[in-house]
Amino acid sequence: MAQAQLATLETFLKDHPGIKYTPPSSPEYASNRKVWNHARRDNPLAIVRPESVEQVSALVKFSRSNGIKFTIRGGGHNLQGRAIAEGALTIDMRAFTSVKVASDGKTATVGAGILQEELAKSLWKEGLATPTGTIPTVGYVGWAMYGGYGPFSSNWGLGVDQIVAATIVDASGEIVKADDGLLKGIRGAGGVFGIILDVSIRVYSLKSILAGVIIYDSQNIGKAITDYNASYRELSKDGIPSQLTLQQVAFNAPPGRVFGVSFMWSSEDTEEGQRWSKRIASLGKVLMNTISATTIPAWFSANGAHVPQVVYGSSRTQNLYELTPELVETIGKNLEKLPSDHGTMFSIHQSSVSSATPQSNSVFASREPHFMLEILGYATQENYELSEQWAVDFWKDVQKTDNKNLLGSTYISLDTSEEKPSQPDTLSRFFGCHADEIIELKKKYDPQNVFDLTVPRLKHFM
Ligand SMILES: Cc1cc2nc3c(=O)[nH]c(=O)nc-3n(C[C@H](O)[C@H](O)[C@H](O)COP(=O)(O)OP(=O)(O)OC[C@H]3O[C@@H](n4cnc5c(N)ncnc54)[C@H](O)[C@@H]3O)c2cc1C
Repeated sequence: MAQAQLATLETFLKDHPGIKYTPPSSPEYASNRKVWNHARRDNPLAIVRPESVEQVSALVKFSRSNGIKFTIRGGGHNLQGRAIAEGALTIDMRAFTSVKVASDGKTATVGAGILQEELAKSLWKEGLATPTGTIPTVGYVGWAMYGGYGPFSSNWGLGVDQIVAATIVDASGEIVKADDGLLKGIRGAGGVFGIILDVSIRVYSLKSILAGVIIYDSQNIGKAITDYNASYRELSKDGIPSQLTLQQVAFNAPPGRVFGVSFMWSSEDTEEGQRWSKRIASLGKVLMNTISATTIPAWFSANGAHVPQVVYGSSRTQNLYELTPELVETIGKNLEKLPSDHGTMFSIHQSSVSSATPQSNSVFASREPHFMLEILGYATQENYELSEQWAVDFWKDVQKTDNKNLLGSTYISLDTSEEKPSQPDTLSRFFGCHADEIIELKKKYDPQNVFDLTVPRLKHFM
């Protein structure tokens, strides 16, 4: 069957010579199919890389009419490696990297294949910035359309809150400008309704940042995180400025497992930022402090150097209202057991409600101020079982803490738990009260579930 499908594809490609084609026989196949989660062993039918919207449209029409399943690849950082699937055609969007800033300088239209670092570099040249995550190679659209937590969220909101317009290729291969209803669905459920071609996003004037990492004495990592949070609770009683976003992190460094804080001051008031950096440094005994006045592109490059390019394993996540002493103690106990692989990591994202961002026009479920635990059970080696088991056990311990502190909603990008149709509340976990709207939008834009491989769980509800 695969051979017959490849032959049909090759006939189609003769009429579309501009689409770059990588069949399994190509020496580039192995590198082009690579995604961040290397445990994903799937062999796509072939990889195609369109360069124009017309080519994307033609590919959807062709695949549909020939019964060929396909996936869509952006930055390839889905934590399950969902950008590829066994026997399915991979439509690789990485050629779509355009950035066009609107004449009023308040929004920019960006191609769907752009990586976070590429976008940041383009905007920085114009004296602009927009919220992103911290890792340069993550696809911007993949990050933003499912939520988009990151170091600018306290200041400007989440990734979903930046999206003001989008163009997609729908299930029948038509190029469609998203209306308000579709746009609401894209803000949170992303690519389940079609292939995103571009999004228009809010951008902000910014010419300097103060950023870096503070690593605290972590000889007793449980005590380090407990002491930090106790002191931070006191400090935050008087309020934390919105320009400051802090992400608690734990990872393996040359001296062993360490606890620290990633610090981002996204304002040109560097003096005030310095004052805050001193306050945050005073919350523990500092081993290392890299905070300095820098640029977003330089900050991205520095971050990229610390994250493995390829891993094996899976992640767990939990949303919480508060970092209570009970919860921090549970986190501390689990950090004491952090496996020593460089790929096993932990962090805490924070989402505060910003009055500047609209909240009701997305299907993103977790709208209350909350913390999102990122428990990364990955390893850089193939024997990742220890790291994965650590993440599972950690998550289970968190479930035993005060139930009232746990949000019912889960971040779809970080949740890689088993997909079982038997859990009727699965959709609500991701989309909260918007679950029914997703089904209605899906029926309207993709009734035959052509985009079924984007969020496979949806097929149980169609
Ligand atoms: C190292 C690392 C760090 C991360 N850090 C953060 C973080 O700080 N904050 C945060 O919120 N998340 C973070 N994430 C999660 C990440 O944002 C999501 O996994 C995101 O969806 C990845 O996007 P991508 O384009 O790189 O991945 P891909 O695997 O290419 O795509 C992700 C999903 O979106 C679909 N898709 C991609 N492009 C399109 C398109 N154009 N149209 C339709 N569907 C499409 C794919 O089919 C796939 O299902 C991180 C992930 C990793 C691996």
